[in-house]
Amino acid sequence: MNPELKTLVELQDNLSQQTRITRQLENPETLRAVAGEYAAVLKVKEEHEAALEAARAGKKALEAQAEEKRGQIAALRQQMQMVRNQKEYSAILNSIDQIQRGLTQHDEALKQKGAAEEVQRKALDEILPRWNDISGRHAGLEAQWSGQKRALEEKLEALRHEQKFLERNLPEPVKALFWKTHTLRQGLAVVPVVLKEGRPEHSCSGCHIILRPQQYADVAAGKEIIRCDQCQRILYV
Ligand SMILES: [Zn+2]
Repeated sequence: MNPELKTLVELQDNLSQQTRITRQLENPETLRAVAGEYAAVLKVKEEHEAALEAARAGKKALEAQAEEKRGQIAALRQQMQMVRNQKEYSAILNSIDQIQRGLTQHDEALKQKGAAEEVQRKALDEILPRWNDISGRHAGLEAQWSGQKRALEEKLEALRHEQKFLERNLPEPVKALFWKTHTLRQGLAVVPVVLKEGRPEHSCSGCHIILRPQQYADVAAGKEIIRCDQCQRILYV
C-alpha cells in the first residue's frame, strides 16, 4: 500500500479509538448498572435528611422561645412579690396568664415538630438498608472503575502521542484533505474498495457507488490519493 495511505488508515483508526475511549470516560459502562438506582436512592435519602434537619431546627427554635417565655414568667413572679396594690397585682397576673397561653400554643407546635421529626427519622431508617446496599455496590464499582479509568487515560495519552507522530509523517495537503473529509464524513475519511457482491466491479465501501475501471486501476496502483466521485472519501485497496 502507498505509505501515505497506510498512514491515513492508521490515523483514522487511531482517532476512532480515541473517540471510543473518550466516550467510555464520559459515561463509564462499569458504573452505568448502578448509577440510576444510586442517584435515585441518594436523592430520597437527602430529601429525608433535609426534612429531618428542618424539623430539628424548628423544634430547637421553638424550645428557645419557650425558654424565653418561662424566663419572663419567672421575672413577673418576682415582681409580684413587690406589688403595692391590687391593680398592679392583677395586671401582672394577667400578663402571666397571657404568656402561659402562648406557652400552651407553643407546646402544641412543638409536638407537631416532634411528630414530623419522628416521621422523617423512620423514613430514613426504612431507606437505610437499601442505601447501604446500593452505596456499597457503587463504592465497589467506583474502585474498580478508577483502575479502568487510569488504564484508559494512559491508552488515550499513548494514542494522542501516536497521532502526532502519524500527522508529522504526512505532507500538509494530504493532511488537510484528510481532516476536511474526516469532518465532512463523521470520522470515516478513508475507506477500502470492495468487490461488488456477485459482480466483477469494485465499489466504494463508504457510499457503495461502483468505481470506473480506470479509477479502480488507479486506486490499485496506489501511486496517488484517489477519492470517490460520489462521497469524496479517500479510497484504498
Ligand atoms: Zn463513495
